[in-house]
Parts: sequence; structure tokens; C-alpha cells
Amino acid sequence: MSFKELGLSEPILRSLEELKHKEPSEIQEQAIPIILAGKNLMAAAQTGTGKTGSFVLPILEMLQERAKPYGKNVHALVLTPTRELAAQVRESVNTYGKFTSITSTAVFGGAKIFPQKSKLKKGVDVLVATPGRLLDLVNQKAVKLDQVQILVLDEADHMLDMGFINDIKKIISMTPPVRQNLLFSATFSPEIKKLAQSLGDELVEISAQAPNTTVTKIKQVIYHVDKNKKGDLLAHMIEDEQWAQALVFSRTKHGCEKISNHLNAAGIQTGTIHGDKTQGARTKALREFKEGDVRILVATDVAARGIDISNLPFVVNFDMPTYPNDYIHRIGRTGRAGQEGTAISLMSVDEHKFLRGIEGLLKIKIDQTSHEAFKPTDKPSAGGGDSRSRNPRGRNPAFSRNNRSSDSKSGNSFSKPGGSSSRPSGAGRPGGSGAGRPGGSGAGRPSGSNAGRPSGNSAGNPGGNKKTGSKAKTRWKKT
Ligand code: AMP
Repeated sequence: MSFKELGLSEPILRSLEELKHKEPSEIQEQAIPIILAGKNLMAAAQTGTGKTGSFVLPILEMLQERAKPYGKNVHALVLTPTRELAAQVRESVNTYGKFTSITSTAVFGGAKIFPQKSKLKKGVDVLVATPGRLLDLVNQKAVKLDQVQILVLDEADHMLDMGFINDIKKIISMTPPVRQNLLFSATFSPEIKKLAQSLGDELVEISAQAPNTTVTKIKQVIYHVDKNKKGDLLAHMIEDEQWAQALVFSRTKHGCEKISNHLNAAGIQTGTIHGDKTQGARTKALREFKEGDVRILVATDVAARGIDISNLPFVVNFDMPTYPNDYIHRIGRTGRAGQEGTAISLMSVDEHKFLRGIEGLLKIKIDQTSHEAFKPTDKPSAGGGDSRSRNPRGRNPAFSRNNRSSDSKSGNSFSKPGGSSSRPSGAGRPGGSGAGRPGGSGAGRPSGSNAGRPSGNSAGNPGGNKKTGSKAKTRWKKT
């Protein structure tokens, strides 16, 4: 089916043509007709599948036909969990709506409120907002929500994770009772379903891909490694495999800076995005990364949500994510728009418990390996190993059963970049002379690998991770 057949008109088709979006993605094909028919929608949409277009395109179409908002009013309100996502959705409204007269703006915290207020003075067709800043603006009477006709909750699961439920309820109560409601979430939980049902009647439920699954084109690999060798292993892989770019996730803000410093010391250029950075610094880091001026972006979960970077080949979990849903969102930053990508997770012996949650949620087994030059030697702490840790190729005897080690709170630990104890055997300083290759040619590659890739039975076969029958288990953040 074409975009035209979905009911989109000339000005929007023109921008799609300019963007070279030849045909609708699966979620767009499903969602656009439902939204154009004015129905309430709850969509399970994977990140990177064209989710934004699936609501922005029909909203633009519908608002073209309607009267313009005036006097601080808004006709379509999109709520997002993060500033980056708000900015990105707004950019999509601008790009897709380039040949329409639709007006839009984005408001979020961390940026000056005065310019946001002045943009809202005349009213806008589409307002994209994070909940906290929107409430500030409402309280300061800078915006009115009583003419909202369409309400979108984007990445609703994140909004609940981040503790926005009360803000969302407050905002909803300020909008008219009769409105169209659209809820998008990569993962579904009973809480999300409850929220969706509270929005309005006759909710149409769609799913472009089964919820709680990862994009199938992403190759996923777990590397067993000692905690204090993670920095060296990462630097080694980046240089040895000549990664063009990678997004590295850290559990903590402090960890972000440590990883960044470690890579810098290895001669690898980085940027960081986390909650301690000003909005200006976050925007700059993201822009530089998107433009290819920065090779490695190190980020925390909150700051990196919703980031859309095309052609991102690698995502690295420097720390295993504590919450299984974060794993889905993190690795969904690669493999976007039908492209292939690799998600590498560095797992120390104390982190096996997190893998159990992830594999349980995804109902797959993720390939595991270790790097020849960074074989783990740490033993599980007293109390034993993890009952689910696997070793498909008979490696890593250190990973015994029943690991209940609980070091999850400790941040990242590093050996010094130049420290001999952390070096791959025979390796020079990562990023140093010798063509910038630590470990020299082929040194430190996973044994039996092809081009530095693990040789697990589905490695190199995107989406080839094995299904399991284990029950999905989701833990929700209480933040
Ligand atoms: P999203 O899931 O909305 O974040 O979109 C992910 C990426 O896919 C963005 O870079 C979009 O520009 C791109 N995209 C969205 N829809 C299409 C389409 N129909 N054809 C090709 N690319 C698309």
C-alpha cells in the first residue's frame, strides 16, 4: 500500500517523497487509517519502526482541514518522557509538515522558559512537551489545554517508568473530555493497558510487532568480562574492529564520565549525555554525534531515550541494564528503519541476574561469548553463581550456578587505560601508535570468530537468537 492510498494528501506526500520514504512501514500502514478515522488507538510499536510518522502524518493531515488555534491554545498535544524525544518529534512534525501550514513547537525542561512562552502566545497546531515543563507553563498561564482535540502519549511505558503518571493524569484532566487519544508504547504492561483504557472508549489495539520483542535485525551478543576490564575491552573492540560509531550505555551519570575519560585516554573521541549535563550540552553532544563529529556517545538510559540516529551500527551496554525494558530500548537505538545493527553487552559476573530478566522478557536466549584477550577470571562472590548463566561453547568455567552476587549498585570500575594488568596480552596502548590498534592484528579476537565476531550459533545471524519458553517477567522502576 502507498502513502497516497492511506489517505494522505499532496503537501504531505511531497515531503515524504523528498525524504525518500517510498512506502509506509508496518506500523504506519496499520495506524494511519485508524487515526484518520478519528479512533482512539493503543499501539505497540517498536522503536525505529517509523512510529513517529505513524501519528505525526495523520495528525498533520487532519489538522490541515481544521480551524487554526488562537490565543495560547493547542490542537494536538504530544507528551514524551524526555527532552530529546520531544525535540525529535517536533523535528518530525516540521519535516513531514514542511509543505503544510501546520505550526508546532516543543517545550521541555532544561531550556529557558521565556522563549517557550512567547512561542505559545499565538497558539500552535501541534505542541510536543515533556510533562513537567508543560505543567509549569500551564500554571504560568502560558498555554491552554481546553481546545486539545488529539492527545498523544508517546513512549508511554517510559513515562510510567519515570514516574510521570500523576503529571499525565493532571494534564489529561485539563483537556476536553471529548478528544482523540493515541498511546504508543514499545512494551505493554497491565499498567499501560489500564492507562490506555482510562483515556477513552472504543480503543483500537494494534501491534506492528509483538510487544516485548526486539527488532529482529539487531544481532545481540553478551561478552563475559571482568568488571575492571570492561573499559579496556570496549576500547579494544572499537579500535580493533574499526567501529565507525557506537552509543554506549552506562547505568549511572558518574559511570558515563568514567567510561568517557577511559576512552579518551585510549585516544577515542567521545561525547556524553546524562542528567547532570545542561540541556545545551546534551543537545550539542547529540548533534555532534549525529553529524559524525563524535565517534562514541556515552549516555545514561534517561538521557538516551527516544534518540533517533540513522545508520548507528553499534550499541553497547557497558553495564547490563537493571530493568529488562531498558534493554529493549537501548538496543533499539541501532537496527533502525530496517537496517542491521549489533548490540553488545559487557557482563561481569555480578550481572548475570540481569540477563535472566532480559531473556525472560524477550523469550530468547542471547548469544554469549568472551574475548580471547579479556577472559574473565572474577569468581562469583560467596553465595554462588547465577542459575541461568550459560556457556554454550563450554567456556568460562567461572560462571557457576546460583550466583546471588549483589554488586549491582557499584558503578563502573576500571583499570587504568595504561595499566598493564588490564591490557590484552601483547597489546599496546589502545588508540596509541601501531595504527591505533591495541593488541595488534587479530590479537584479542574472540576465538573462532570472524572479523572479531563471536561465533555463537546465531552470531552473525541477526534475529537468530533462540526462543525460550520462559515466562516474561517485567520489573518496573518506581522513580
Ligand atoms: P521512528 O521509529 O519514528 O523513530 O523512525 C525511525 C527512522 O525511520 C527515522 O529516521 C525515520 O526518518 C525513518 N522512517 C520512518 N518512516 C519511514 C518510511 N516509511 N520509510 C523509510 N524510513 C522511514
